[in-house]
Amino acid sequence: MEDLFQDIQYVKGVGPKRKKQFLRLGVENVFDLLWYIPRSYVNREKVHSIKDLKIGEKGMIKGKVKSVQEIKTGRGMKIFKAFIQDNSGIVQGVWFNQPYIKNIIKPGLDILITGKVKMNYGALEINVSEYEIMTEEDLAFKILPVYPLTEGLNQKAVRSIVFHVLKEFLPYYPDIFDEKIRREYNLCGISEAFLNIHFPKGREEYIKARRRLAFEELFLFQIGLRQERKTPLAEDYVVHKEKNDLVKRITENLTFDLTSAQQRVIEEIFADMEAEKQMNRLLQGDVGAGKTVVAALAMAKAVSSGYQAAIMAPTEILAEQHYKSILKFFKGADVVIALLTGSTGNAQRRIILEALSQGKIDIIIGTHALIQEDVFFDRLGLVIIDEQHRFGVKQRTLLSQKGDFPDILVMTATPIPRTLALTLYGDLELSVIDELPPGRKPVKTIYIKESFRDRLYDFIKEELKKGKQVYFVCPLVEESEKQDLQAAVSLYEELKNRVFSEYKVGLLHGKMKPKEKEFIMENFKAGIVDILVSTTVVEVGVDVPNATVMVIERAERFGLSQLHQLRGRVGRGDEQAYCFLLGEPKTEEAFRRLKAMENTNDGFKLAAEDLLLRGPGDFWGVRQHGLDQLKVADLIKDQKIIENARELAKIIEPDEQLLFYINKKFKKEDDVIQN
Ligand code: ADP
Ligand code: MG
Repeated sequence: MEDLFQDIQYVKGVGPKRKKQFLRLGVENVFDLLWYIPRSYVNREKVHSIKDLKIGEKGMIKGKVKSVQEIKTGRGMKIFKAFIQDNSGIVQGVWFNQPYIKNIIKPGLDILITGKVKMNYGALEINVSEYEIMTEEDLAFKILPVYPLTEGLNQKAVRSIVFHVLKEFLPYYPDIFDEKIRREYNLCGISEAFLNIHFPKGREEYIKARRRLAFEELFLFQIGLRQERKTPLAEDYVVHKEKNDLVKRITENLTFDLTSAQQRVIEEIFADMEAEKQMNRLLQGDVGAGKTVVAALAMAKAVSSGYQAAIMAPTEILAEQHYKSILKFFKGADVVIALLTGSTGNAQRRIILEALSQGKIDIIIGTHALIQEDVFFDRLGLVIIDEQHRFGVKQRTLLSQKGDFPDILVMTATPIPRTLALTLYGDLELSVIDELPPGRKPVKTIYIKESFRDRLYDFIKEELKKGKQVYFVCPLVEESEKQDLQAAVSLYEELKNRVFSEYKVGLLHGKMKPKEKEFIMENFKAGIVDILVSTTVVEVGVDVPNATVMVIERAERFGLSQLHQLRGRVGRGDEQAYCFLLGEPKTEEAFRRLKAMENTNDGFKLAAEDLLLRGPGDFWGVRQHGLDQLKVADLIKDQKIIENARELAKIIEPDEQLLFYINKKFKKEDDVIQN
């Protein structure tokens, strides 16, 4: 087995110099090289016989070089000709102005050339656009791999090194699936798969190989995820059995009717909470879909069953907001609710921690402050993580470890295509709120250039006259937080002193003290502040229904999912809302992002578009989870394989060897919070 992880340097044909080149490609050992998947293939099945070449068309032939000739024309042009023969005839390969070619193409070699076919003074010619010298393995295979390369490393070298590695090391590669599983999931053997992904015998074989390897990596990935989350397969769980009518009372207390999507996900969550197993559920719902009330009802069920419930949010602003909403939802009910954040004072904190550990607090709402070591619960039965992608896997686990396998609900507003959700959260069940509360009008989204700024201000004045409120958001400039702040501050002064001097303008940014932030948010919510100028701290979760205009400055700097999140801050009431994207996109991709925003309000469509535009490599959470290390699987196209791999991963308890391979396959970056 060791052989598989042998340093690439000691593989035949590599050595110290090539090793450096391979390292640049992320290939350190034999195992990596086997997973070094061709980017495409050249199909030799298209090779013509010389006699079948058609003048004026592109042709590809294979033959032996009989003789060569170099000609200089009067105008100083150098022409190199090679006479090539196959068993049907002879043709001249012609290269223009490539003096080094004479050092490469020598009589006696087998070569393959492609190019346009011509007739020149009665002789058949090919103007060579591509050529290859055939080696032993080239002659043996009709379809050849084309690998991604790096400076100094050529196609031929990689092919022959891979060819050698396949012959030498494949027998050591263990097949993690036995006959029975292979038959059940229609998978070929692992050796066959590697052979045919590198040197496919034919189309059929290639498809089978690809399927097997995609399945292999998705399966390993799923097992790895489960391992990381320590999702128990075992019998530890909390059963929620209501002892009173709290849920009913809270539901009747609501000032609105639940949408049918909300009712459906509540049923799904309740069924899990009652079941004799641990709930692991992802609640996905577009911005403004109304996830908070669903969370509140789940907490009511937990409390009514005699347990404590906790909800963790990524920012203080959001925790604060949840605290207030939940107080409102539970008004009149005999439930003790507390808030714990980084800015909770020391004395207060001590009181809360004590009450929490004695079971005197039923519901706690907080930030990362909840996962500190000295936080203890008496009987934690339900854990809810809001905007879960803002947390690392470890942080999520830390909170649930404060109880004995409590039920877990993670919520996300960041839209994510189903395939990706299944891959990232393979061990989670999925509930989707796919309907907005009634009366919501889609936010009108308009992309405008700087030159329209004055007209935009006129429009905003009309909205302000109607008593509406407005957000201005400035982008995050990665290079410098200071500069970032600067942009927001100068916009704030401009708006306050010049443009909207008769209105109240507020400023919100990450460098402010929590108390100051809270104060500004309070005033904005209360309608005392009319215009809020902010950096991206308002991105997630903030809910001020009276705000109807969102202006995003330098919108081209934001990614799609962030733009969508920001837009989601408006259109939360029943008035028509607007989102203005101010920007000067410099790239085609940036332009398409802004256009996509104009075209749809549907977060799931945008997420799919984003995946298409940029690939999963840039999608949030993807790199963090190691998903960018998938070499074969395609998150968009391989939905069926993803589902199958997930199904199998659920019933297999990994052994040492499997875990070892997972670690080799997914070299993980540290689990970091994204912010
Ligand atoms: P998100 O899913 O983005 O977290 P929130 O839970 O903040 O959304 O809800 C957005 C707004 O919609 C809140 O003001 C909430 O009170 C309101 N809301 C939630 N559900 C409904 C409903 N069924 N009908 C009307 N308004 C609702
Ligand atoms: Mg929310």
